[in-house]
Amino acid sequence: MGTVTQKDFRHVSYLWDEATAAALAGDEVALLLYRSNLLGADLRLTNYGGGNTSCKVKGTDPLSGEPVDVLWIKGSGGDLGTLKRNGLSALYLNRLKGLEKVYQGREQEDKMVALFNHCIYDLQSKAPSIDTPLHGLLPFAHIDHLHPDAAIAIAAAKDSERITKELFGGTIGWVPWQRPGFDLGLQLKKCYEANPHIRGIMLGSHGLFTWGNTAYDCYINTLQVIEKCAIFIEEKIQDQTAVFSGQKISSLSENERRKQAAALAPIIRGCCSSNQSMVGHFTDDSRVLEFINSNDLEKLAPMGTSCPDHFLRTKISPLVLPLAPTANLSDPHSIQHQILPFFEEYRAMYANYYITHQHEDSPAMRDPNPVIILYPGVGMFSFAKDKSTARIASEFYINAINVMRGSEAISVYTSLPKQEAFDIEYWLLEEAKLKRMAPPKPLSGKIALVTGSGGGIGKAIAHKMASEGACVVLTDNHAERLESAYQEFVTAFGKDAVAACLLDVTQASSIQTAIDTIALKMGGIDILVNNAGLSISKSLEEHSEKDWDLLYSVLVKGQMFVSQAAVKVMRKQQMGGDIINIVSKNALVSGPNNAGYGSAKAAQLHLSRLQAAELGNDKIRVNVINPDAVITGSNIWSGGWAEGRAKAYGIRVEELPEFYAKRTLLHEIILPEDIANACFALVGGLLQKSTGNTLNVDGGIAAAFVR
Ligand SMILES: [Zn+2]
Repeated sequence: MGTVTQKDFRHVSYLWDEATAAALAGDEVALLLYRSNLLGADLRLTNYGGGNTSCKVKGTDPLSGEPVDVLWIKGSGGDLGTLKRNGLSALYLNRLKGLEKVYQGREQEDKMVALFNHCIYDLQSKAPSIDTPLHGLLPFAHIDHLHPDAAIAIAAAKDSERITKELFGGTIGWVPWQRPGFDLGLQLKKCYEANPHIRGIMLGSHGLFTWGNTAYDCYINTLQVIEKCAIFIEEKIQDQTAVFSGQKISSLSENERRKQAAALAPIIRGCCSSNQSMVGHFTDDSRVLEFINSNDLEKLAPMGTSCPDHFLRTKISPLVLPLAPTANLSDPHSIQHQILPFFEEYRAMYANYYITHQHEDSPAMRDPNPVIILYPGVGMFSFAKDKSTARIASEFYINAINVMRGSEAISVYTSLPKQEAFDIEYWLLEEAKLKRMAPPKPLSGKIALVTGSGGGIGKAIAHKMASEGACVVLTDNHAERLESAYQEFVTAFGKDAVAACLLDVTQASSIQTAIDTIALKMGGIDILVNNAGLSISKSLEEHSEKDWDLLYSVLVKGQMFVSQAAVKVMRKQQMGGDIINIVSKNALVSGPNNAGYGSAKAAQLHLSRLQAAELGNDKIRVNVINPDAVITGSNIWSGGWAEGRAKAYGIRVEELPEFYAKRTLLHEIILPEDIANACFALVGGLLQKSTGNTLNVDGGIAAAFVR
């Protein structure tokens, strides 16, 4: 130990820290977790959520006090990079091995999973995964099972067995593709018993098993084997221009790629969302471009992916858009007309795949829309029920591209037979996993843009939308406020659920940039909340032209042109949409010192009705929230306004909320959260047939009743 360093590896990360490991000495389970986290930290070693690790140690049987062999293994689900003790399953090793006596053959394979539960040693265990017997039936103290692209490239090559034998001089065994389960465990055991000198086993079309007597030995063995696979592939690729038989077309410039992708994303989103609302992800990663621009795209893309993890995430194959990189996307209708048939064709292909391969007890067909959409010369879109699923699908397809690249370089790439792929995709155990997932939230799959959401009411609205499952786009004209809100949201909801974009609602170019950014990051827009605002309270003669223009620019022109840009995106999607305009009681109630603000609010209110009248055909609903006297956290109340009002009423600033509450019918203080809840009420699904409405959230002010 201690002689190995990162210098020994070019294709994998050597992260073992002796001091950290020494502190864990004697606790094999802690060392297993440490090793797992190091392996999971390098995506070249295993894909997200892929693979599992284990160790076998002596424990004390709580039933007898006797020493007993225990298998600790990553449980079902979870990711190695973040694996903790509560993500492990611990099983009585002898009981697990004893299952061989009751094993009734591959037809009864799924029944074994229930029996794994009978072997549980630690009652805090996570459910044992289907890979448990693969580790349990091999005799080694520490075992890694990973899905490294470099190894799968060999595993998915046409002559995988020969390459594996030659490359490793017979020190890596080879077992042909077989769905994981008890029988595959028996095959691994047989392979080892026939070749007792081997240091690992390659699983055809799947991945790698490697092992060692200690956590460290196992780690090093794993790294060395994967490094060797990667070197072998890179050495075979002498001529980079020959990868995938060379490039057929060239990419647009980065700027142009992003422009095309932003223009197209909402149209694709609409096509993908025929069953449920999908969220998008786009990448123009160089590995993607190399593949989608290549001569081999047409041959390889329809073949489908190999490793089960890949196609479970990406579907059996991608949709390649037969659209020129420079296609003119300025007329959405004609583009829709052009590409919709390809989505229909894909759905028909998928339905046919389902019908051809289904069994009597197969779960019902799932959404037949493509997950991965390739646009040669531009990049790759992925669409899924939420942003993280879409992003992860995209990462998995890059894994699949790496595998095809490697396989084709060393031999000929082979995908899994379609029936095998189907049996995995519609495996009853997979279905059970899906059924265990939490039901979607009311706004899952929706994308909400809230203007002026760096603070105050806007931030509260965005927060509510995010907590109800929407992807939210925070926008503000104040960079620092926006950044701090963004960080707060990332902590609360994760980086996938939130995006941020500087936006000055009075500038056409700023609006376009924000709309393009959102289309690129999320795929489109479903909910627009026009909330950005400011207030100026002055007497008629004190109002300057500048005051007037500012109020009308932000409040009226802002609502008009942000809506206009969002509606363009909504129309491209053809999925309807929601616009909520945050107006004010002052749109209806007249008082002194409010000529600019109050009349601009009245213009916003009537503009909302006009928008509602015009957008009904597109199923875009436009509704208004009329708040009043929201003081907490509101931007409007800073900058002297609150002081001015307090002075006018002859009270202190702290007394304002109570003062305003007393003026209302319900005697309520109005909070930003109240406005946020009202917004959610409009878009949460119960008011789908309401448009052109005004909902007051003001504690009840008779003078502001709409009539
Ligand atoms: Zn696996």
